[in-house]
Amino acid sequence: MTIPLQSGIIYGPVNSRRLGRSLGVNIVSTKIKTCTFNCVYCQYGLSRVGEEHMNDIRWYPSINEIIDALENVLTILDPKPAYITFSGNGESTLHPGFPTIIDQIKEIRNTHAPEAAVAILSNSSTVTNKVIREALQRLDKRIMKLDCGNEETFRRYNQPLPNIHLEEIVNGLKQIDDVTIQALFSGGGGGNYTDDNIYDLVAKIKEINPTSVQIYTLDRSYPSALISPLTKTELIKIKNLLDKENIKSAVF
Ligand code: SF4
Repeated sequence: MTIPLQSGIIYGPVNSRRLGRSLGVNIVSTKIKTCTFNCVYCQYGLSRVGEEHMNDIRWYPSINEIIDALENVLTILDPKPAYITFSGNGESTLHPGFPTIIDQIKEIRNTHAPEAAVAILSNSSTVTNKVIREALQRLDKRIMKLDCGNEETFRRYNQPLPNIHLEEIVNGLKQIDDVTIQALFSGGGGGNYTDDNIYDLVAKIKEINPTSVQIYTLDRSYPSALISPLTKTELIKIKNLLDKENIKSAVF
């Protein structure tokens, strides 16, 4: 079972487990998932746009459309959200205007909801690009995906495009200040809750030295029959391993 894509640019506010009251900003297509990954647990299913469209600006809403949509909602929204969050139908950093959009969204935030933080939920695949790293650094909060500690699990679990490699992502994440890692764990034959992966992942997270790690499991629809949610006890076991390395984390 999966859920439909977001049907517009702005959605919510939603009560997010990890962010509280969050207004979502979807800056990719509303027609098909636009993502460099195809995670086995993706709530939007396993269909995604072809790679040839990902760098084509015509595939995305224009910067003006995005800014107008946010301003229209934020002007009348009461109470204001705690977060304005880049999220939605894929990977926001793929939008060719992403750095400009960040700056313009922050201006609107300053005018209409100065208390709101601007955040992103990203799959981390573009942190190899210096321009994207600099843009991410201008956000108030960066919540970056890292589910896997070795290339074999990464290819099976997150199903990235062929030219994306775990080691390069880890190197990119190491160059970003104040990064929060989000790690989704699942069991079953298709899951990432294996001794090897957990061991390797803790080592990679230690290298990155994040501000904190968000540990969570499946809680909504997912397309693969080969994965299953973990128990709270299993998630806490992962937290205990991070605690031993003095890495701050929380189970959601
Ligand atoms: S990164 Fe997010 S949107 Fe992309 S496939 Fe994975 S879960 Fe889906």
